[in-house]
Amino acid sequence: MKDCVFCRIVAGEEKSFKIYEDDRVITILDKYPVSWGHLLVITKKHYESIHDADPKDIVHAFSVASALARIYRNDLNAKGVNVVTNSGRPAGQIIFHFHVHVIPRWHEGEFSWSSRHVLDEDEAKSVLNKIKPYLSEIDEFLRSAGIK
Ligand SMILES: [Zn+2]
Repeated sequence: MKDCVFCRIVAGEEKSFKIYEDDRVITILDKYPVSWGHLLVITKKHYESIHDADPKDIVHAFSVASALARIYRNDLNAKGVNVVTNSGRPAGQIIFHFHVHVIPRWHEGEFSWSSRHVLDEDEAKSVLNKIKPYLSEIDEFLRSAGIK
């Protein structure tokens, strides 16, 4: 879809900080992170949200998100992680192309979408450098789930 920012990111027509890609999804840093390390798992195919996405793509996207959540908890010592998808405007969906948020929580305190800030180059590089050594765990996770 031409007017969809995530389709343009998937096609490489729009800049993003990509951390992972396979045949069904890409994972990028959210441009407006709630916390350091906020990631988006985006299906390569365009769906509006979880209500119309192919179940195989939903399972795949949440599996990649789960592997990333484990990297944050087990390897990078996050205190918690939110894995969430928003479906529909009343649920807080802003971009109408199915995606799963992976939001590591480094501090105690309530979750709030209003704590978003603009991602800059330095923050993006620090996330990429920290997470890079663990990315092979995604394929291991998918294999152990029988998905890959
Ligand atoms: Zn799209």
